[in-house]
Amino acid sequence: MDSILVTGGCGFIGSNFIKYYLDKYKSINLVNLDKLTYAGNSYNLEGIKELNYTFVNGDICDSDLVKSLFKEYNFSILVNFAAESHVDRSIDGPADFINTNVVGTLNLLEQARHFFDSKKNLNKFKFIHISTDEVYGSLGKEGSFSEESPFKPNSPYSASKASSDHLVKVWYKTFGLPTLITNCSNNYGPYQFPEKLIPLTIINCIEGNSLPIYGDGENIRDWLHVDDHCKAIDLILENGSIGETYNIGGLSELTNINVVEKICRALDKISPKKDGTSYLKLITFVEDRPGHDRRYSVSIDKIQKEMNWSPEETFDRGIEKTIKWYLNNKSWWKSLKEKYNQQRLGVIKK
Ligand code: NAD
Repeated sequence: MDSILVTGGCGFIGSNFIKYYLDKYKSINLVNLDKLTYAGNSYNLEGIKELNYTFVNGDICDSDLVKSLFKEYNFSILVNFAAESHVDRSIDGPADFINTNVVGTLNLLEQARHFFDSKKNLNKFKFIHISTDEVYGSLGKEGSFSEESPFKPNSPYSASKASSDHLVKVWYKTFGLPTLITNCSNNYGPYQFPEKLIPLTIINCIEGNSLPIYGDGENIRDWLHVDDHCKAIDLILENGSIGETYNIGGLSELTNINVVEKICRALDKISPKKDGTSYLKLITFVEDRPGHDRRYSVSIDKIQKEMNWSPEETFDRGIEKTIKWYLNNKSWWKSLKEKYNQQRLGVIKK
């Protein structure tokens, strides 16, 4: 039975990916290595019954642990989701970002390289590193970043992800480790920690709180439904050319204010306020954050041409499904809010 190591599998995208993957590949042995930081939540994977699933509570920076996992399971695939992922937190405290995103990725690369080098069967392994469109920096009104665009990160988060991407590329070029990189746009969907724009907006609406938006709200992001992201990763693992990078985008560029307004209008229909007013009335504008990138956009020509992949979900359909999920899973986010005592859950981020 082939074994796959997923790191950061208790986070938002990782937990969606694990469910997708175990559902699709019944005869795979999947190990989830997660440190369970504030963003990691084992409830995201509640109900997984597969006998071929193992959870390991640990740090990707722990070289002895990662080494022992390679020895025990002889992984054929490593999917690296583990990261500190929130831009605002990276401005408040960059060190954790450098540690996990850079040093942690380095440790995974090194343990994989030493394990497979010693067995001289590197071709039986793939290391896929999940990264972000934020490494390319900010765009003006026109154009999209391609896989060839230079890196120009503007936050400690994006700088740490850019550094890890460089390491992954170099471990392929210098050491021949079979690597793949994905740079994707903003994800949304179920199980996203309620500090990010979409879950935070939905939850603030449900609770009747104000909806503070940074600056003028005209910052543009491209939105990718997490299910489309999981399918793209799977496809790249199957068909991607080793050593290559693939951009993954949702073809749904929207200003932050558009996103918030769409959520308000959808909620007005799905779960109208008792006083008959629109959720739109909850919107307020707050001071912008430092280094706030204006626009992100990635070209998905490469993955479209090579693998015939395009996002299946439209934003309007995806956001409606996501809103319904948060309405139907209040206990999931309420327990997180209690646990973290609403710290940082007040302002719309990203
Ligand atoms: P998340 O913050 O929801 O989850 C991160 C997970 O990593 C958590 O379960 C956490 O416990 C775990 N983790 C953190 N440090 C660890 C460590 N040292 N060792 C082991 N586990 C650790 O993040 P996400 O939104 O699911 O993002 C997953 C990946 O995708 C990240 O690498 C992120 O940079 C990338 N990405 C995310 C988005 C997005 O919109 N969410 C967009 C582009 C790229």
